[in-house]
Amino acid sequence: MALFGKMDNLGADQPENQDKKKEITDVEKTRVLIIGSGPAGYTAAIYAARANLKPMLYEGLQPGGQLTTTTDVENYPGYPDGITGPDMMEDFKKQAERFGTDIRFGMATDADLSERPFKVTIDDNKIIEADALIIATGATAKYLGLEDEKKYAGSGVSACATCDGFFYRGKDVAVVGGGDTACEEAIYLAGLANKVYMIVRRDVFRASKVMQHRVFNTPNIEILWEHQTKGLYGDGVVEGAVLVKKKGTPEEEEVKIKIDGFFLAIGHKPNSDIFQDYLETDQVGYIKTIPGTTKTNVPGVFACGDVQDSVYRQAVTAAGTGCMAAIDAERWLAENS
Ligand code: NDP
Repeated sequence: MALFGKMDNLGADQPENQDKKKEITDVEKTRVLIIGSGPAGYTAAIYAARANLKPMLYEGLQPGGQLTTTTDVENYPGYPDGITGPDMMEDFKKQAERFGTDIRFGMATDADLSERPFKVTIDDNKIIEADALIIATGATAKYLGLEDEKKYAGSGVSACATCDGFFYRGKDVAVVGGGDTACEEAIYLAGLANKVYMIVRRDVFRASKVMQHRVFNTPNIEILWEHQTKGLYGDGVVEGAVLVKKKGTPEEEEVKIKIDGFFLAIGHKPNSDIFQDYLETDQVGYIKTIPGTTKTNVPGVFACGDVQDSVYRQAVTAAGTGCMAAIDAERWLAENS
């Protein structure tokens, strides 16, 4: 049985997109293009650069990736005392640059993987043609889908405690979610804010025991078990949230909490949208790779890191698959050019 289904729309492109691409005259070529600058992208760059492939890497909207929004990384081997996410990613970048990676700021906005060389549009105004493509675009924080999240975006709603926590010193905030991210964000915020509510939809955490333990031992965190968010209120900025306790049960009740900040920590969505016409993904959007490799259903296109990993999603596994992608690309280029 073939691993991947038939790609009926391979090469199909909307007429308006074709027109858009025709207008772009700034075209550059590279052997290996890496998109993404998290642990996967930089590790792929280190390996590809050391293999003399002179890779070009586009950093994307969030240079350094998700780790730049985390606090201490304590589980990456080689850092016995831990290291901050931004410092670690700066080290990754320096190492990739040291071997000659052409690192650029820019966001991949479109892709045409119907033929080789592959064409990736950057910032809607430049096309990079690549013999081999390594996708390391990672994943992005999810939102609940409430209108109020948009209404108060940047005015009390955030998906990154380390980016925005500073603004809530001495105030009351809430974190939504019960996983490791939510616990980590709540603990971080507890060091700045007066009080942190955790809004957890079930009566248990999904987080690891060690993170749970830290939350339970942080006195200014209050856990609201079996609560869901109905909406936010406030005059221009968030002043509170309306929650529903034990939704759908006879004890269902509406609860209001006064908060200044509302932080989402409910998981992530893989950044694979621009490749969906060509690459096989799972239902959520994680790019499928041939097990044990980083090969996608399009020969010459490789995926590594969180964009293809719905299971482990760790910096060290992302780096591992980044290494695999560079080796897979190197071997593929040797056989196909
Ligand atoms: P997870 O998927 O692990 O957890 C998501 C949490 O959000 C769950 O508690 C889930 O509830 C809740 N949730 C999801 N959707 C909704 C919704 N619509 N409304 C309310 N709650 C919702 O994501 P994380 O980002 O926490 O973690 C991702 C991965 O990264 C995990 O493997 C984790 O271990 C790892 N990680 C590790 C860290 C570390 O080791 N220091 C730090 C951060 C992440 P429910 O449980 O009911 O599904």
